Amino acid sequence: MVDAVHIPSNFIHQIIDSDLANGKNGGRVHTRFPPEPNGYLHMGHAKSICLNFATALKYGGKCNLRFDDTNPEKENLEYVESIQASIRWLGFDWEDRLYYASNYFDQLYDYAVALVSQGKAYVCSLTPDQAREYRGTLTEPGRNSPDRERSMEDNLDLFSRMKNGEFADGTYTLRAKIDMASPNINMRDPVIYRIRHAHHHQTGNKWCIYPMYDYTHCISDAIEGITHSLCTLEFEDHRPLYDWILDQLDVPHHPQQIEFARLNLNYTVMSKRKLKQLVDEKLVNGWNDPRMPTLEGMRRRGYTPAAIRNLIEIAGISKSNSVVDVGMLEHCLREDLDRTSPRAMCVLRPLKVVLTNYPAEKTDILGMSRHPKDESMGERSMTFTRELYIDRSDFEEVPPPKFKRLVPGGEVRLRGAYVIRCDEIVKDAAGNITELHCSCDMDTLNKNPEGRKVKGVIHWVSASNSISCEVRLYERLFTHENPDSAEGDYRDKLNPDSLVVLSDCRAEPSLASAQPEERFQFEREGYFCADRFDSKPDGLVFNLTIGLRDTWGKIQNT
Ligand code: ATP
Ligand code: MG
Repeated sequence: MVDAVHIPSNFIHQIIDSDLANGKNGGRVHTRFPPEPNGYLHMGHAKSICLNFATALKYGGKCNLRFDDTNPEKENLEYVESIQASIRWLGFDWEDRLYYASNYFDQLYDYAVALVSQGKAYVCSLTPDQAREYRGTLTEPGRNSPDRERSMEDNLDLFSRMKNGEFADGTYTLRAKIDMASPNINMRDPVIYRIRHAHHHQTGNKWCIYPMYDYTHCISDAIEGITHSLCTLEFEDHRPLYDWILDQLDVPHHPQQIEFARLNLNYTVMSKRKLKQLVDEKLVNGWNDPRMPTLEGMRRRGYTPAAIRNLIEIAGISKSNSVVDVGMLEHCLREDLDRTSPRAMCVLRPLKVVLTNYPAEKTDILGMSRHPKDESMGERSMTFTRELYIDRSDFEEVPPPKFKRLVPGGEVRLRGAYVIRCDEIVKDAAGNITELHCSCDMDTLNKNPEGRKVKGVIHWVSASNSISCEVRLYERLFTHENPDSAEGDYRDKLNPDSLVVLSDCRAEPSLASAQPEERFQFEREGYFCADRFDSKPDGLVFNLTIGLRDTWGKIQNT
C-alpha cells in the first residue's frame, strides 16, 4: 500500500476535522470505494479511489472496497476481478474489508419488510410506463399510485410472494411511501425493490427480487459503519432519500453523505456506458486497449500509478465541475517516466546506412549510461559496426528549412559514436531510397575535433547487432476536445490515426531482455513500455506511452 498518497486538504477534510473536534463518530473515520461491477474502472474512478483511501490514511481510519452489485444482468466476475486488480495496481489495499452489497440482501429484505410494516412502503402494480407518467415532471407534481393505500397485510403478503418468485419481471415493485408532490423527483415514492429473475454472480439464483441502488447504498454504508460516504455531485439530489431511508430504519449508524465534483478530462470520454459501447462495437480492442482511459488500458499503455495519483493530487477536490486538461495528466506522466525510465535506442522506421570507410571486420563496443541523471541505473553497451540503421525521418533528400539531421553531402553525429557524412543515396527501381552510403570520420568517436561544428545528433543501431521488434504508436483516441459535446455522436470524433503498428523496428540489444510492462525512453522518440500481454522474448512488442514533447508543462512555464 502506498503511504505517500497525498490529497491536499479540501472541504471534505474540513468537515472531517470539525467532526473529529466535536467527537462525532467516536473519533472514527471510515470511508469506502463503492464500484458497480458493470465495467472496468476508468481515470475518473481513480479520483474517488485516491480520495477515499487517502482520506482514511490521513486520519488513521479505514477504507472498504464494496461492490454495489444490485444489477445482476449488467455485472460479471470479469469486472469484479479487474476492478480489484486496478485498485491494487494504483497502490491501495482494502486489507480484509472486501464487501458486496449482495452480502446484505437478507438484511436489506428485512429492512424493507420493516418499512412496509410501518406503512412506509407499498407494493405497486403500475407498469414502468405508467409509473413514469404518474411520476410527474420537474414542473408538475406526481400523482399517487392507485396502490398507495393498499393495506399493510396485503403489502406484506405481496412482497413476500414477489420474493418467492410468484410474479413475472416488471409486474410489481416495492416503493417507498414518501411524497408524490415533492419538488425532488427522487422523493416521489421511489422504487426500492424490483422483480428480476436473473442469476447473480455472488448469490446465484437465491433471489428474484433485487434492491435498487439508492436503497441499498445507504443501508450498506450504515451496516459497515461508514462515517463519511463520499460520492460525486450527481448524487446531491439523492441525499434526501439517503437520509430518509436511514431515518425510518433502526440502523446501527447514520453515515454522512458528502458530494464532490467528478474528474473530467478533455479529449476523453469517461462514462462507463460509452466505454462499454466502444468495446462492444469493436471500435477499440477491448476494455484494456491502451487507448482507453480505463485503468487497465492506461496500465497497458505504460502509465505509472504514481503519475495518476499525482494528477489527482494536483487537480484537487472541489464541489464545482470542471474539465482537466489531459495535457496535465501527460505532464505528470512524463515527469515520472523521465525520472524512472532507462534510456535505449530503437529505430522505428529503419533505413540502412553503410559506412564505406569503416572496415567490415571492425567493431566498437560503446558503453552508454542508462540514465543521464541517475548513475545507479548503470550502463548498457552498444556495438558499432559498418552497417547501421537510422530512422527514415532523420534523412531528407530535399530538406525543409532548418532541417538539422542528415542530408546529401551533409554531416550528422550518431549519438554516443561518430560523425558521418552522406555521400550517396541508393534507390530501387521505383525510386525509393533503400540505403545510404556514408563515410565515417574516424577522429570523432565521442569527441569534436577543433573547429568542427556538427549540429544534428541522431540515434542508430547496428544492423547485425540489433533485434527486431514491433512498436505500436498510439495517439489520443479522440480528435475532438470535447467528445461528449452536443454536435454529433462521440463515435464520429474518434481519431482514425490513434493506432499505427510498425512491425519491423530495430532495437539495441539491451532491449532483448525487456520484461512485460517494463518502461523505457527510446531516445528522441518517447516513452515506451513492453506490452503486458503480447510482448514475448522472441517477439518483443512495445507500446508508445507518450511522446517527449510536453506542451502543457511549457505553457505553465511561460
Ligand atoms: P460512470 O458514470 O462512468 O458509469 P459510475 O458512477 O456509474 O461511473 P460506479 O462504479 O458507480 O460508476 O463508481 C464508483 C464510484 O466512483 C462512485 O462513488 C462514483 O461516484 C465514482 N466515480 C465515477 N466516475 C467518477 C469520476 N469521473 N470522477 C470521480 N469519481 C467518479
Ligand atoms: Mg454509479
